[in-house]
Amino acid sequence: MPKKIVIVEDERDIAELVEHYLGKEGFQTEIVADGGRALERIRKSPPDLVVLDLMLPGMDGLEICRALRSEERFRAMPVIMLTARGGEADKVTGLEMGADDYVTKPFSPRELVARVRALLRRRSNQAEFNEPLQYGRLMLDPDRHVVEVGGKAVELTAKEFSLLKHLMGRRGRLVSRDHLLNAVWGYDYVGGSRTVDVHVRHLRRKIPMLAKALVTVKSFGYKLSEGP
Ligand code: CA
Repeated sequence: MPKKIVIVEDERDIAELVEHYLGKEGFQTEIVADGGRALERIRKSPPDLVVLDLMLPGMDGLEICRALRSEERFRAMPVIMLTARGGEADKVTGLEMGADDYVTKPFSPRELVARVRALLRRRSNQAEFNEPLQYGRLMLDPDRHVVEVGGKAVELTAKEFSLLKHLMGRRGRLVSRDHLLNAVWGYDYVGGSRTVDVHVRHLRRKIPMLAKALVTVKSFGYKLSEGP
């Protein structure tokens, strides 16, 4: 089955360029030129990924992204933003609104295709872990986005949640900081691997059983021991 991609872009030249390159790679594409119609189109028949322009007539890309993320079934849908602005502030805003990746115009179509592939790959790796994960008294349910210890809910940020999910899905294995950075923050994340350490520290504080079970492997990464 070819993967379906909706391209939301009002500039026809760009939309067709993107469509051409994605089509050549075997993706099935559809262009939506109006921001106001994008949500309707995506809801009608959800694609595997959305390429979303920031500046659009009707409804802008950030609003569309926010609206998508507010619906449970679209929470994990990969979204790549296109924008003419390249400032770091815009990038942060786009990612905070829930975009998974970001490409600044003018961009190379090959780069966009590579990012589309990377995102779809990342998503299919995550799909294996959608069953609730149990680790002693600790339970993480990806579908309900809930973490509990002994039936008591633990409040985690989105990144802490994602980090914990990756570690629980790979218990007993060494996981490098780079792997965690790619999986949780994305391969183009500009912060350093210290970010992982900081989030691990928060996890250990919020879930005391991890203080012992989640082992630091010096200058490499982390390992969640086989059993708690
Ligand atoms: Ca535009």
